[in-house]
Amino acid sequence: MRTLIKNGEVLVMEGEDFAVVLRDVVVEDKYICEVLKPGEVRDEEFDKVIDATDKLVMPGLINAHTHAYMSIFRNYADDLEFFDWLHKVEKVEDEMTEEDCYWASLLSIIEMMKTGTTCFVDMCMRSGRAVAGPEGAVSGAVNDSGMRAYIGRGLVEEAETPGAQRRLNEFLADMESYAGNDRVKFILAPHAPYSAPMSLLKLVRGVGLERGIPATIHIAESDAEVEGIRRDFGMSPVEYVAETGLFDLPVVAAHLVKATDSDIEILREKGVSVAINPRSNMKLGNGFAPVDKMLAAGVNLCLGTDGDGSNNTQNLFQEMNFASLVYKGNTGRAKCVDAEDVVRFATIGGAKALGMEGLLGVVAKGALADLILIDLTEPEFVPRNNLVSALCYSANGSEVTTMMVNGEVVMEDRKILTFDEEEVYERCNAMAKRLGMEVGL
Ligand SMILES: [Zn+2]
Repeated sequence: MRTLIKNGEVLVMEGEDFAVVLRDVVVEDKYICEVLKPGEVRDEEFDKVIDATDKLVMPGLINAHTHAYMSIFRNYADDLEFFDWLHKVEKVEDEMTEEDCYWASLLSIIEMMKTGTTCFVDMCMRSGRAVAGPEGAVSGAVNDSGMRAYIGRGLVEEAETPGAQRRLNEFLADMESYAGNDRVKFILAPHAPYSAPMSLLKLVRGVGLERGIPATIHIAESDAEVEGIRRDFGMSPVEYVAETGLFDLPVVAAHLVKATDSDIEILREKGVSVAINPRSNMKLGNGFAPVDKMLAAGVNLCLGTDGDGSNNTQNLFQEMNFASLVYKGNTGRAKCVDAEDVVRFATIGGAKALGMEGLLGVVAKGALADLILIDLTEPEFVPRNNLVSALCYSANGSEVTTMMVNGEVVMEDRKILTFDEEEVYERCNAMAKRLGMEVGL
């Protein structure tokens, strides 16, 4: 299959910097095989031609931290302190079946597709079995939707407990059933220092090293977490995780709101990527991550929405906007976290965190064809003074018209081509009712 995306304004890298240039993008099977000046190829040479006139063609965004099945908690547990919020969500979470997780994950995927996310890193606290379709929970939803994801089963409890063993085995079976799949990938996901004992983190490290699997974990999200780990172990949450050797794996660590200077030094030294989640952190009253210090230290930063229980949206454009504004506001420095920084977090930073530098997060020859088209005739893109600034400060995500993942068009003119959107809304509304979540305002 050969596809031509012609005459678009293409966001490319020129050295370390972004540039927007008029180009034709040639896709063959799952790869971008050429980025050419317009007119060098003819339409007849292709199976499909997409006219990208007045469109920005850019890499699909990478959501480096979320919980896709939590879409069902959107606007359900708001305005609560962190642990009150967690307990309210956990109560309903325990009632969710695998099929519930499947439909709720698809609901998140719809929102991601409609706002430009082509790849996400997921942590699911509910089970997923190694089968396709609804019973496969998150992996089934990713497989059926055409999306790309790195899927983690949330791991908790001491390593030797039957619960921890069962979850890890379910995860490994799910992973094995998708062996060789280009899009459905897996990541070990111990939950957090306060829920994952050292024995579990050591077990995860061993499994990750043996099988070559990366890991993701929440770290230093709240004051209560920092105080608890300090009280019980006499160290910071980052030191606690470092002590177990988990950072010997490629790790995408989420939050790091409370990271200290010495924590940042550990993150830098161990090559840990940090997924910042500014909206979730603010909504739960947890504060602001030291993004300026992490940037200065050279820590690889990427961007996550977190789950809908604590953010209420999977829209990475909103997250980019907040990521820039809140750290400027919090540091009192308008140059802190500029538009290029946040677009980088949501593209190249995410790719690097997943060991996919050069393959994801860029429009370049040889990269995987994970692309989005953005309508530049929408008012927020007029005039076209600086399109990178526009992505960060003006866009809202609804300007994304078309999406390609792994060379397949999964959304065209905002219509999802891979599954029935309406059925997902019906299923999720019925699920919220059944789980007793609707308050009927
Ligand atoms: Zn999270």
